[in-house]
Amino acid sequence: MASAHSTTDSEPTALHLGGDLRLTRQRREVYDVLLEQRDHPTATELFIRVKERVPSISLATVYNCLETLAGAGLVKQVNLDRAPSRYCPNLDDHGHFHCTSCGAISDVDFKDGPQHSRLRLPRGSVVSQIDVAIKGLCPECAARARQKKPDTRKSRPALN
Ligand SMILES: [Zn+2]
Ligand SMILES: [Zn+2]
Repeated sequence: MASAHSTTDSEPTALHLGGDLRLTRQRREVYDVLLEQRDHPTATELFIRVKERVPSISLATVYNCLETLAGAGLVKQVNLDRAPSRYCPNLDDHGHFHCTSCGAISDVDFKDGPQHSRLRLPRGSVVSQIDVAIKGLCPECAARARQKKPDTRKSRPALN
């Protein structure tokens, strides 16, 4: 991947959408911030982070940038239930583990591909994307839960 701060015009062609140079720069900042901290932030969380670098940026612009990046295939939108969308720059086929306690989302890599070869799909189907959402407790929350109530085997957590 080209360096984000390269002085030459070496950005991926996918980013050459629209003619507004300022927006292109903002788009790049949004993308950089997404790449730096891969915790699947919401648009609002991203906005707060990007604002530290581009104080003039607005939330609407961040949404705009995300839409363009998603449209260009550089960023994936992660949706779970009715929660606000999260954004993920990992373009490899992967699933997401959602912690139901703290809300953390982490990438789950598939061990051996191609994944759909293991699924019983209707005959003749062509897979274009795999979305796997796994819910549970992240290691920190699981450890905390174990400390709180040592005997959790009797009361099973409610599945929502
Ligand atoms: Zn957690
Ligand atoms: Zn992800």
